Amino acid sequence: MLSPTRRLIFAASAYCAVSIFAQPPMTRLNPLITKVVEGVSEERIAATMKKLESFGTRYVLSEKNNPTHGIGGAQHWIFDEFKSYSPRLQVSYDTFTLKKSQRIPEDTELSNVVAVLPGTINKDRYVIVSGHYDSIASRRTPAGSGAQPSDEGPRSAAETDPSAPGVADDASGTAAVMELARVMSQYEFDKTIVFIAFTSEEIGLNGSTNYAKKAHEQNMQIEAVLNNDIIGSDVSGDGLSANNHLRVFSEGPEDSPSRALARYTKEIAERYLPSMTVDLIFRRDRFGRGGDHTSFVREGYAAVRLTTPSENYANQHSATDTFANASVPYTARVTRMNGAVLASLALAPKAPVVSRVRPPQAPGAATGTTASAPVPAPVAAGTTGGRQGGAAAGGAGAAGGRGAQFLARGKSGYDAALRWLAPNPEADLAGYAIVIRSTTAALWEREIYVGNVTEFTLPDVSIDDVVFGVKAIDKDGNPSLVSAYDQAPLNLPQAATPPVGQPARQQ
Ligand SMILES: [Zn+2]
Repeated sequence: MLSPTRRLIFAASAYCAVSIFAQPPMTRLNPLITKVVEGVSEERIAATMKKLESFGTRYVLSEKNNPTHGIGGAQHWIFDEFKSYSPRLQVSYDTFTLKKSQRIPEDTELSNVVAVLPGTINKDRYVIVSGHYDSIASRRTPAGSGAQPSDEGPRSAAETDPSAPGVADDASGTAAVMELARVMSQYEFDKTIVFIAFTSEEIGLNGSTNYAKKAHEQNMQIEAVLNNDIIGSDVSGDGLSANNHLRVFSEGPEDSPSRALARYTKEIAERYLPSMTVDLIFRRDRFGRGGDHTSFVREGYAAVRLTTPSENYANQHSATDTFANASVPYTARVTRMNGAVLASLALAPKAPVVSRVRPPQAPGAATGTTASAPVPAPVAAGTTGGRQGGAAAGGAGAAGGRGAQFLARGKSGYDAALRWLAPNPEADLAGYAIVIRSTTAALWEREIYVGNVTEFTLPDVSIDDVVFGVKAIDKDGNPSLVSAYDQAPLNLPQAATPPVGQPARQQ
């Protein structure tokens, strides 16, 4: 062990080396990301929201073959629009059968509409932006009418017009997805970007569940899902407005993949839209409510919900969720924020690996948020991290051998010794930055650029007292998501009673 004096000298020389050799790529606005942000057109978004409104109620059992009315018309129109933006967009229907259930009187074929912009370098890594184009869960009758929906025989007067034009919920999110597909398909990105208009969100997240399960089965490396649901209103039912704020909901625990994505969203969205503030809500979603991001979280992926703080509950799923009651400027601002985050992620290197990946389980076996994740699942630093040291994320490289520690106390026993894996680094990789925060802080507080190394020791820093993370940065300054050195949660027993607000309605 080094004497205290020698340790001090060593520490000082280590810091000098860092300051001399490890100059971080400058944090500046990336011109390509700025082009994406500036390319978003309020007029185009308005036209899309109006057009989706014109299809009327987009219920999953509404008209399938009418080009101007019902869910079928909307679906085909979205498909054709995607097609028209660029020949580089690979547009398809992701079709599945929704089985007869209490909510659905017959087996029904449904389709998500998907547009893929292939990446140029990391083609097999994906970032996704989504919204849902259905607008209501059932042939709902007005509250208190006593009328029962039926699919046999003549319908009651109350039942014949379950008007739900669904402009804020969720033509607004769909318009954001479509506008970003239009703008971003004019440029090239390292990773593959997927633009999805989901169906059947309102019935029970069926479209997104179908997509996320298949993605997991195929071991699709999805880095992030930005799900936009209700980004079209900026005045609450009580008259308050917070139209320069955006809520981002993320499932825990505190260093889950979704939390990393939420923090990234705040950092990048506020950098490119400084007039806007991202309010991070460290919850899955609003009480008793749900959304398509959760389908991805269930499969182990990082996914967040972007939504207005100014909801008008009276309008949702009703005849008054109209274009006239929507705020196009707000939707456009949120679309620009999405564009900045998506573009930054799609240009950035992949995140370093700081845990061994758990061996894949059989699809469907996952019940928690981190189980059987195809992306690196956080495990306790210094533990064996599951049953074996498996392949690292991205399917490349070994995880560093049994017993190797990613976060340790160093030779002295009192240092923070960090190690990470970076299989197949990108040609434009500049290096790595270590980020640090207090265990009670929501956001990263310090950033130390350490250059192109895969281990670094911070002398006299207790690994017990702070949270560490590491991110990759390319030569243009685009940062990856942060990989946090997480402590695995205890497997607490299930509560005997369901949590407040369950089961969730989907909106
Ligand atoms: Zn919704």
